[in-house]
Amino acid sequence: MKLVGTRSIEDRSSFLAAAAGSTPEHGGLFVPERWPRFEDADALLALPWVERCARILERLIGDELALADVRAVVGEALDFPAPLAPLADGTFALELFHGPTLAFKDFGARFLAAVLERVPARGPRTILTATSGDTGAAVASAFWKRRGVRVVVLYPAGRIAPLQERQLACLGENVTAVAVAGTFDDCQALVKRCFADRALVARHGLASANSINLARVLAQVLYYWEAVAALRARGVSATPVVAVPSGNFGNLCAGLYAREQGLPVRAFVAATNANDVVPRFLDTGRYEPRATVPTLSNAMDVGAPSNWERIERLFGGDRERMRSVLRSGSATDEQTEDELVRMARLDYRACPHTAVAHRVLRERLAPGETGVFLATAHAAKFGDAIDGPLARAGFAPTPLPVALARLLGRRIERVELANDLDALVAVLDR
Ligand SMILES: *Cc1c(COP(=O)(O)O)cnc(C)c1O
Repeated sequence: MKLVGTRSIEDRSSFLAAAAGSTPEHGGLFVPERWPRFEDADALLALPWVERCARILERLIGDELALADVRAVVGEALDFPAPLAPLADGTFALELFHGPTLAFKDFGARFLAAVLERVPARGPRTILTATSGDTGAAVASAFWKRRGVRVVVLYPAGRIAPLQERQLACLGENVTAVAVAGTFDDCQALVKRCFADRALVARHGLASANSINLARVLAQVLYYWEAVAALRARGVSATPVVAVPSGNFGNLCAGLYAREQGLPVRAFVAATNANDVVPRFLDTGRYEPRATVPTLSNAMDVGAPSNWERIERLFGGDRERMRSVLRSGSATDEQTEDELVRMARLDYRACPHTAVAHRVLRERLAPGETGVFLATAHAAKFGDAIDGPLARAGFAPTPLPVALARLLGRRIERVELANDLDALVAVLDR
């Protein structure tokens, strides 16, 4: 797969070099030069999950990884289900939280780790990543105890859920958890500045596991295919509208890429919390990144979404074309809490991010359309945030899955860091 930079077509990369950390010299992000369009979408949709994933990935990266390796990566990294759950209101949840850290980030992180395992490093390799909550856990888990790789995860101190923090700060070994005095955008900015320092990148073999790493986005393309396949398996042949709870917009970008490949999707719904730069842009034409506002759906607390540049590029910056495929809306925390209760009454326990997606989907779905929303994390990861409103409506607390309950007795080990580049470089050099 040939990649080009979003800011200069002089910037070029192979997929594997970009997965291993190469970023465009002139800034921006790497994107595929073009997406292949699959003429056999119906046949692909009829295949079982693992086989379909392998076939799609072979066509994308088969020129760089041996076919046996592509299949091994799929078997190793994508070995958990993504079931489609019907709700009593006629919508469907595509549940992406059945991986080891109970959020959809497991797809991208595990895929990236499995791919990098097959790309020999020339020196040290350090995965440096900023997290608004779930990425850090997924990346730490995917790379934990892998030889020759160090993982450094930055997160905004006090702004991620306690269980999310335990998921990344209780591992130890080759994983360093860094609590930054700042917001997620501050963490992301620190990481970006590290990557802009070519000497630092070379010294540590820095690679990003954020969604600016195209490998992650590529893995996410696969479950959009699964959504349509699972609808068809249930006898629903309508072309769905798919709602995506969005923060950095990597997930939505993957959905748009799947559609580019020929996946039948009528439209996407970009659903955000109060950090609504993109819905505002789609409504007004003004793109105005802003400081992050903390909300209940913290993994979507992003004021300057890093993947928007890829989406813009896909549409050649044409807002009208975007609006023909992209609907959007946002939900306040109060509306999110109402939605959690409303969904519980439909016998569905959602996490706050998923509730945002369901709410905006309801608002944007036309009569007769089939709606799917991505359920991006397990409700129990956000127990404290959601049990209050649910308790007031008479619902019992969300039971804790074993994978999370196990963490409660473990010790947290974190480095506390000022929002300061030199301090971060010192941690890397340590
Ligand atoms: C990361 C995350 C999101 C936002 O995904 P983006 O790709 O950053 O838009 C939504 N929900 C959950 C649970 C997440 O962890």
